[in-house]
Order: sequence, then C-alpha cells, then structure tokens
Amino acid sequence: MRKLHTDIVIVGGGIAGLWLLNSLTKQGYDVIILEACSIGGGQSVRSQGIIHGGIKYALNGVLSQASAAIRDMPLRWQKCLAGTGELDLRGVTQLSDAHYLWSQRSLGAKITSFFAKKAMSGRVSSVDKADYPAVFAHPEFRGNLYKLNEIVVDVPSLMAKLALGFQARILNIDTSTGTWNRDLNGNISSFESSQQQLQISAQHFIFAAGEGNGAILDALKIASPKMQLRPLHMVMLTHRTNLPIYAHCIGTSSKPLTTVTHHINMDGSFTWYFGGDIAETGVDRDRAAQIAQAQRLFSKILPWVTLKDPQWSTLRVNRAEPKQSSLSRPDAAFVQSEQNYSICWPTKLALTPDLSDQVLASLVKQQLTAKYKLTTEDLQGLVHPEVAATIWSTQCNTTR
Ligand SMILES: Cc1cc2nc3c(=O)[nH]c(=O)nc-3n(C[C@H](O)[C@H](O)[C@H](O)COP(=O)(O)OP(=O)(O)OC[C@H]3O[C@@H](n4cnc5c(N)ncnc54)[C@H](O)[C@@H]3O)c2cc1C
Repeated sequence: MRKLHTDIVIVGGGIAGLWLLNSLTKQGYDVIILEACSIGGGQSVRSQGIIHGGIKYALNGVLSQASAAIRDMPLRWQKCLAGTGELDLRGVTQLSDAHYLWSQRSLGAKITSFFAKKAMSGRVSSVDKADYPAVFAHPEFRGNLYKLNEIVVDVPSLMAKLALGFQARILNIDTSTGTWNRDLNGNISSFESSQQQLQISAQHFIFAAGEGNGAILDALKIASPKMQLRPLHMVMLTHRTNLPIYAHCIGTSSKPLTTVTHHINMDGSFTWYFGGDIAETGVDRDRAAQIAQAQRLFSKILPWVTLKDPQWSTLRVNRAEPKQSSLSRPDAAFVQSEQNYSICWPTKLALTPDLSDQVLASLVKQQLTAKYKLTTEDLQGLVHPEVAATIWSTQCNTTR
C-alpha cells in the first residue's frame, strides 16, 4: 500500500477547504485536500456569492451577534480581491461592487432611522435617484433603495483561483469509501483507501465537508457537534436581457422576501437566482408550484421589468451547519477542535476568513509545528478533481 505523510489533511474542497489549504500552506504547513466530487461542487457553487456584512440580519433594528461577527468580512474580502489581503484573490470575477436593499413601498420611520444610525454608517447608504442601478431607474419604482457595502463574487472563478497552483494537492477521494484509523489515545492516525491502495497519515485532520461532515462524524463515532441541514428551494430565471440586479427585497418582516443575484452564462444568456424567504418557504412546494409562486412574487416586486425569453427552473439544495436549537441560523463560522481533528462549517461563504482564523488559533494552541513536505514525486499518479461548473445554463426548461 502506498503511504503519504503530511501535516494536515482537509476533507472537502469547497470554499472552507480551499481557503484553509491556502492559509495553512502560507503558515508553512504541508496540506492536502481529499475531495469526493468536484472542487466547489457542493453548496459553494450553488451559493449566491454575496459577501454579506450583516445588514440583512440587522433589519429587525437590533445589531445581533450574527451582524457583529460578519461586519468585518466585506473589507477582508475586498483587500484579498485587490491583492493586499491575507490571500491573493486578484483575478476573481467580482459580479458587483455593492448589494442593494429595496422596498416595494416607502419604508417606515423606524427602519429608515435605523439605517441612518451611526452603527450603520459606512455599511449602508441611501442612493440618489441619479445613481440608481438600471433595474430600479424606472418611474414605477416608488420604494426606498439602499446601497450596502457588500460585494458579490463569481464563485466558480473564486474556486479556480483558490485551487490554482494546488492541483497536485487536491486528491479525488471520497472518504466514505475508505476507513479511518485511530491510535490508542483516540487520535486519528490515518485514512485508508483500499480501492486506491493508499494510506494517508497526518498530524491533524480538518473536516470541512459541508453536508458530508454528518457521515464523517458518524463513521468516526464523534457524538458532538451535530449537524443540521436547512433545505432551500431556489428559483432560477434565465433570460436574454442584460439587466444586472444584486438586491434584497424587503416587505413588512425583517426577513427579505427574496434576494436576487444576476449571473452571466457561457451562451450569452443571464440567470437571475432567487433566494431568501421564497427559497425557505418553498421547500414544501413542488417545482411547478414553486415556479408559480416565484412568478407571482416577481410581478409583485418588479412589475415594471420585462425580460426577453424567460425560462424558469428550480434547484433544491441544503445548507449544512452545526445544529442549533430550533433550526435557527448560526451566528458565526463554526470550528470545534478536539484531540488532533477539527470539525468546521463556515455557515456562510462570507465567513470563511473567520473560520480560517479560528482553525489557525486552535493549531497554535495545540502547538502544531510543520514536519512534513510531500514532493511532486510523492503525489504523482493520483487522480485530481475538476473545478465545478456553474449550475445556471443546464437547469432551464419551463417557459413563461
Ligand atoms: C443556495 C445557497 C445560497 C447561498 N448563498 C450564500 C451567499 O450569497 N453568501 C454567503 O456568504 N453564503 C451563502 N451560502 C452559504 C455558503 O454557500 C456555504 O456556507 C459554503 O459554501 C459552505 O462551504 P463548505 O466548503 O463548508 O461546503 P461545500 O461547498 O458544500 O463543500 C464541501 C465539499 O466536501 C465534499 N465532500 C463531502 N463529503 C465528502 C467526503 N466524505 N469525502 C471527500 N469530500 C467530501 C463535497 O463534495 C464538497 O465539495 C449559500 C448557500 C446556499 C445553499
């Protein structure tokens, strides 16, 4: 059996695994990723790519813990995109330099004064009519429009950038097809794939497998933490009008009715991707009912917009997170380190730098020092996964 020894094995090549691969390598550790399918092909490429700054969570007028934890993220990402941050993300496609928030009608005094408060300054600003993005520059739009300091990134290009230069270190291995070995102290000593005749041992193991963490925890008989899945039924509207929209639409409640992002397809078409409340409440609707609901919502919130050749489709996907009491949203990135392993969920793409900080802090606490250096020769002949393609173009088959 072929044997590999490294400092850190990460299971899962989504945003969490790839960011950690980059940041831990920068700290001098020898790191490899085991990825079952494609790079970013789990939740990451299905996400809307918004680098939230937490305004969405502050809509009820209270700066919650979620809002505080996420506040610094846009700036950290912006620095990375400019090449001056902790990772060099120059070349990643930025879809929008801001995310907007709009209401159908004028907002009440309570929420308007909340946005004007000092706590929100620099994070949200009102927009002069002259500066409205094209989609809102219409006489029929009579609501309020705010600009949030939240950027939107193209996730496949982010995945490709984070994998660049590391292809040899990302191995196409599904750990559910192999076995985990533990030593007498309960530390994880190695992962063994009899199919590939490969044994990989490491000083530390990081489980960043998103939804896959559940089965890994079971296989390793780790009772805590537990995972929760929050199912979503997202809606996609593919069309041929280049009209960008990156915005939350708010109604009377503090939860956005929907969050819409605009994506560009290889064939020259565009996809509007609808998340937020419609995706959460749409879980019990079948595809046709969810599309009908989305069409009603669309005509209600954007009645002045007509798109060329509209085609509607839906996508079911789960958010994977640490279990909370009452299926509520976790407040920050989650990392739990025990013995020589860490279990993590970023809970949001935007929070991955926070996740990386937490992992690094726990490795420092454990005084883990770099010991191994896998060579190109050591890694030769192994199979590597591709970066996942976008999901937009392939999903459409219902015409309005
Ligand atoms: C519809 C949707 C929209 C979202 N929009 C946003 C947004 O706009 N902004 C934001 O900040 N967050 C957003 N999120 C949340 C964000 O996408 C996730 O928090 C983040 O992508 C999770 O990354 P991850 O690396 O932990 O998991 P994943 O991206 O799911 O990656 C896990 C990887 O592990 C691999 N894997 C699983 N099991 C195994 C195994 N046994 N062996 C080897 N590999 C394995 C999988 O193949 C997968 O590639 C959204 C989520 C969803 C579902």
